[in-house]
Amino acid sequence: MKVQYKPKRNLLETIFQVEILQGMALTLRKLFSPPITRQYPLEKPPMYPGFRGQHALVRDAVTNDSKCIGCMRCATVCPSRCIHIQYHDDENGKRYVDEYSIEALRCVFCAYCVEVCPVGAITMTEVFEYSDYDRDAIYFNKGALLENWDKFIEGTGYDESYVNPFWRPRGVNASTLPAAQRKSVPADWTIEGQFVGTKVRQEQETEDMAPMEESNV
Ligand code: SF4
Ligand code: SF4
Repeated sequence: MKVQYKPKRNLLETIFQVEILQGMALTLRKLFSPPITRQYPLEKPPMYPGFRGQHALVRDAVTNDSKCIGCMRCATVCPSRCIHIQYHDDENGKRYVDEYSIEALRCVFCAYCVEVCPVGAITMTEVFEYSDYDRDAIYFNKGALLENWDKFIEGTGYDESYVNPFWRPRGVNASTLPAAQRKSVPADWTIEGQFVGTKVRQEQETEDMAPMEESNV
């Protein structure tokens, strides 16, 4: 088989080296067309609706604290296991969240935590510039997450009714979104006995192995 890697040229094209002329014409055209590069960070790009950026805990305007009720749904659903919550219940059974933190360096930005939150306490803002040389600066504790929220609404003018448009894109049928297709949480659900990952796999493997061992006897 003959492999032809160069287009055939006629005599005139060979004499005048048309490819060179074509290249120079392209260069000339680009000289007078507007630039498509952006002088970042001096020139910021417009943020796309639904961008999943920095986490924030929504500050309740009444209590001036987080709206989080410590239900643990976000920590349970998080595939990266990067949400840590500490809480205590008082004698009346009311729950208080003592600490809430997110290891953002381990986050995969799936936004499941936002999706499952029953009170809209955790959100993903449109902030994307928060790199740092210090790992601790990207480990967000409760105070830092509330500060993220304060900075976000100050810079954008949103209020606590903000919902990242990722969840309600315009023109998309809401019933086709993952949230609508996910099973609802049973009324008798509790955190006790809920494990995700290795422990569940090990328990399942033990259960699967048990009938095989019995059948071998
Ligand atoms: S976005 Fe996903 S990975 Fe990140 S904290 Fe939320 S649930 Fe976890
Ligand atoms: S799902 Fe919402 S209310 Fe529940 S622990 Fe997470 S942030 Fe708090």
